Parts: sequence; C-alpha cells; structure tokens
Amino acid sequence: MRNVLHLNNLFIILLVLSLKLHAHEGGHYSQGEILKVWHFKNGQSISGNFLYATKNEIILEQKEGSLVKIPIVILAKNDLKLARFKIKKYAEIHQQYTQRNIINNQVPFFEMIDIRFFGYFLVTILILLWLSKRLKNQAYFQPLQRVALYSFCLGLFILACKSSSDITPAGTTIAITGGTTTTPSTSISKTSTSFIDSAFTPYKSANLAIKWDDTYFYVSSNGIPTHNMMVGITSWQQQVPIAQPYTGTNHWSIPLAPVYAASPVSTKTNFMKGAVALAVNGVPIFNALNNRGEDSFLIGELDQWGGHCGKGDDYHYHAAPLHLSATSGLKPIAFALDGFAVYGAKEPDGTIMKTLDESHGHVGSNTVYHYHGTADYPYVVGSMKGKVTLDPATTAPENQIIPQAFTNPLRPALTPLNGASITAFSAPTASSYLLTYKIGAKTGTVQYSWTNANLFAFVFTDVDGKQTNATYQRK
Ligand SMILES: [Zn+2]
Ligand SMILES: [Zn+2]
Repeated sequence: MRNVLHLNNLFIILLVLSLKLHAHEGGHYSQGEILKVWHFKNGQSISGNFLYATKNEIILEQKEGSLVKIPIVILAKNDLKLARFKIKKYAEIHQQYTQRNIINNQVPFFEMIDIRFFGYFLVTILILLWLSKRLKNQAYFQPLQRVALYSFCLGLFILACKSSSDITPAGTTIAITGGTTTTPSTSISKTSTSFIDSAFTPYKSANLAIKWDDTYFYVSSNGIPTHNMMVGITSWQQQVPIAQPYTGTNHWSIPLAPVYAASPVSTKTNFMKGAVALAVNGVPIFNALNNRGEDSFLIGELDQWGGHCGKGDDYHYHAAPLHLSATSGLKPIAFALDGFAVYGAKEPDGTIMKTLDESHGHVGSNTVYHYHGTADYPYVVGSMKGKVTLDPATTAPENQIIPQAFTNPLRPALTPLNGASITAFSAPTASSYLLTYKIGAKTGTVQYSWTNANLFAFVFTDVDGKQTNATYQRK
C-alpha cells in the first residue's frame, strides 16, 4: 500500500507542477508590487519600473502593464542619474546579446513559480505523508478515502492556479480600493438630450450648434472660445489660435447612452492624442499630460484659461475650464467622450464636491456617474469610467478615442520659442488677431488676419524688430 501511495504522491506532484507552469501567463506586475517612483524637475512624479531605453528616453512598465515613455531631461537630478545609468547598462547588455545572437524567449523556470505555490505544495506533501503513516497498517486503501484525497489535492491545485492567475493582465487599470468609492450600477439610463442641450445653450452662437440622433449628441464648433486666450503662456510652441472646422461630419460626438467600462482606461498612460472631453463652449479638452508625459499646466504651456494651441493651431484646454462655471452656474462645464458629464467645483445641487474616485468622479444623487473638474492633476478625467472606442491606428500612450473631430492644419508646425512669455492677445478687427510676447525686456508680435475665402496673412515681428510675412490658404 505504501507503494500505491508513493505513486499517487508522485502523480499528483507532477500533475500540479505541469498545470501550474501552463497556468502562468499575463503581465509582470501583481497587485501590491512596489513600483519605483520617478521624480520630475517640476515636482511631479510617475510610478513604473524600468523596462527598456532609447538614447534619451526610458520606457517604464506601470502597474497596469502599460508602458510609458519618459524623456530623461524632465527627470529630477537623482533620477536623471539613475536613468542615465540604466540607459548605459541597457545599451551594454543589448549589445552583448546582439553580438552573441542569443535568441531566448523562455522565462526562467524559477521566475514562473511563486512562493504561494510552494506553500500549497508543501501542505499537499505533508498531508500525503500523514495519510501514508495512518494507512500503512491498513490492508487496503479504501476507494472513498482515495476520492477524498484526490478532491483535496484538486482543491490545492486550484489554489495554486489562482495564486498565479491574479496577475493583472496588460492594458487594464487596477481599481484603488477606497472607502468612498461607490460601485455604480451596470445599467445607466440614456442621458436626456434636453439636459445636455441646456448645458450648451449659454454658448450657442453662429459658431456653435448642436443636434442629435439616437446614439450621439453632436456639437459643431470652430473651437474658439469667447474668453481671451494665450495670455500667461511661458512655454510657447509659436502656435496661435485659428478657427477649426469641427462642422459637418467632423463634429464632436457625445454618446447618449454611456456604458461603464469593465476596466476604466487610465489617462496617465493613454489618450496623449486627441480630446478626452468637450467643454460646453465647444473647445476640446485634451489629456492633462502632453505627449512627453509632462503636465502641460505645470510646465507653463497653458494660458490663464487652461488652454493653448496644438500643432494645427487648434485651441484646446489641458486643465479644467473651471472659469466656465461663471456662465454655466451649476450645469456641467464639459462632457467626457464616454458620455458622462463633467461638473465644476460644486455638486449639481450646489453642495461641496464629494470625494472623487480614481476616474475623477463619482455617482451623483441621480444615480448617474459624473466627473468633476479640479485645479489639480488629473484636472478632468483620471480614467475613462465609460466604455470608449480606441482608434485602432494609434497605440498607447499616443492613442485616441473615436469618434472625434479633427483639426485641419493651415501651416507647418513651428518649434518652441525659448524664453518667450505671451503678455497680450487681442482682436483688432473681427477677422484678425494680434499676439504680443516678451523675451526678457524685448517685445515681439504675431499679427494675422483672414478673409472669407480662408486666406490667412501673417506678419511676424521678432524681438529685434525683424519682420517676416507669410500667407496660407486653407483648403
Ligand atoms: Zn495641447
Ligand atoms: Zn459630483
């Protein structure tokens, strides 16, 4: 009988071991694993472990398995030193492997087994030893006992599998457990079009119109707000506001029936392209981080209203346009592209804003989820609470939500103008703008005007008084 038991023992060990190896797949980080925090010069930070490097960038793998690219120049002193060391080391190792032409995609054996597995494994062996001692004087090993033993071992096997499968799959966001997070109900009633319409109403004009069908609420706009722009920018790319054709089929689309996402997609590692929300004045709201992972507000790229212009001379916000509350009152100041409303600093009933979850919102008293704009990161959306469709032509972090309206660049994108601060912006006529900037004590200007036929004429006067003219025809 001892022999039978030994055979059983061996069989179960082999079974558990082989299936355990088979069960291991998914991302590298399990919940609770400590990630390195990388500090930026501007005081911000990001968590993630070094994965690989290019010449001037490090690529970090974050908790949710997503990758983020960090230009090392933005890192604080100590982390910059570490990043340089990692880049050097990475280059050396990479070179060695290339030279030896080693192709090995196998994960080392010991990496595939975790400590919990050994725990269950040890318990199985101890119980088997105990049973074998108990049974050694019995004439035979009863079928019932055999079934009990197998069931128990199967239970341990399932535990062993579970311990390896709770590794978070790549591309999902781990919910941060907090006492204040409300689990939303899975079905949401369709947003009333009159509710969305009322939020846009104060801003309707010749340049902002709305319509809807069964699926979407559509907003046509030229993307130019009625408030002033550009003043306050201290890190300027030389782009200026030009009306955009967010009209016809290139309008903004807000889903009327939001659906909760199984795993809200984080704005920290996604949506570096395109808008994440549309403000009720028809100006798109982009991710708070720019495509270099920097908080554009903190690095001086934004004006006093939280906006600036992109490479297509398209004006957009990166911070929350909380100033719209002066016109909007308690109504939403924006709608995220997942269909949920974005409120300002107060709840819709005028009370103080309640605690926000990791998506930067919560379920309101009407049982519907909404976001809030705040003066700090992530400003508008922390992660997309509602399901969104990702543009298959883009990859994280520079991916984007579709449908979305696109800009129509008029001229080639320019480069940053070092040391320039925008001090004034005005409209001398109904079809011209004058931007004034300073570098030190010297003043430069960009004056531009346009015709009804979309012919744009620019006069650039640099800080030394040198003038350059350019004209562009918008197609
Ligand atoms: Zn921008
Ligand atoms: Zn709220």
